[in-house]
Amino acid sequence: MQIRNTPLKRIDLKVSFGCNNLCRFCVQGEKREKFAAKDLARIQKELREGYASGGRGLVLTGGEPTLHADLLKIVEFAKKTGYRQIQVQSNGRMFRYADFCRELAAAGVTEASPALHGSTAQVHDFLTGAPGSFKETAAGIANLKKAGLRVMTNTVITKPNTQDLPALARLLAGLGADQFQFAFVHILGSAARNARWLIPKKAVIEPFVKKGLDVGLAKGLRVMTEAIPFCFMQGYEHCVAEDIIPRTKIFDAEQVIEDFGAYRRNKGKVKAPKCRKCAFYARCEGPWREYPQLFGWDEFIPRTA
Ligand code: SF4
Repeated sequence: MQIRNTPLKRIDLKVSFGCNNLCRFCVQGEKREKFAAKDLARIQKELREGYASGGRGLVLTGGEPTLHADLLKIVEFAKKTGYRQIQVQSNGRMFRYADFCRELAAAGVTEASPALHGSTAQVHDFLTGAPGSFKETAAGIANLKKAGLRVMTNTVITKPNTQDLPALARLLAGLGADQFQFAFVHILGSAARNARWLIPKKAVIEPFVKKGLDVGLAKGLRVMTEAIPFCFMQGYEHCVAEDIIPRTKIFDAEQVIEDFGAYRRNKGKVKAPKCRKCAFYARCEGPWREYPQLFGWDEFIPRTA
């Protein structure tokens, strides 16, 4: 999930569940077959409810929201409703159409969060399962910038792209991204099915993540990580996204999660008994709970400061 340092309560609205990528790390599982896109009337109702509950930031997501036939109408309605920040979180492929980016900006989108998972087509297209997707998303990032939108990219960290993270950071800076985020793969859905060859160890990714962050920091970009606890982030604590993710309400396919932060901390993430000794115990959420089920807790060394 992409983040922004903002005090605005955020509404995360999933508008559809289909996608034109077949990512090997996708957490959505069977949702793409199980649920049709929400219709405009339902989305408008959810937008009104989200605003009434205090939401002023909006993330339109899915599945792939840019495939929703009514996306421009959804954005216009959200703007009219009063949302002050409107983000489209996407695999980025549809942004290859420059006029589509301009239409989104004119309708009220303020920022976009495309996903790039490698610095080359070889790495990215393998991970997305979609030949040609690297070229389209990379072109899309440049088009979004030309349309005047803030661009905050997301990268899912897996074994195949771990060593590529510094090169990817250089590419993102060159394409003009305002912010990039490296998120540790969540071992659900397709990622769980591919766990044996897909999931890296956190101690292994640490130096590559830090080298990638250094690239962004040197260029003055905002750089963040997600689902990497503080015991792997010494010296980069200010990059830990969980510290600043705003309060978020999610309108999913068949449920509404009132407070995703509480849900994430109480149900999604986990800490070990030894974490109680850690200087970051109160601030840290721990890893997604599936990670220690796969690799145990040996790598997690409680911090003394
Ligand atoms: S609380 Fe546990 S998981 Fe978090 S930084 Fe400390 S040792 Fe690591």
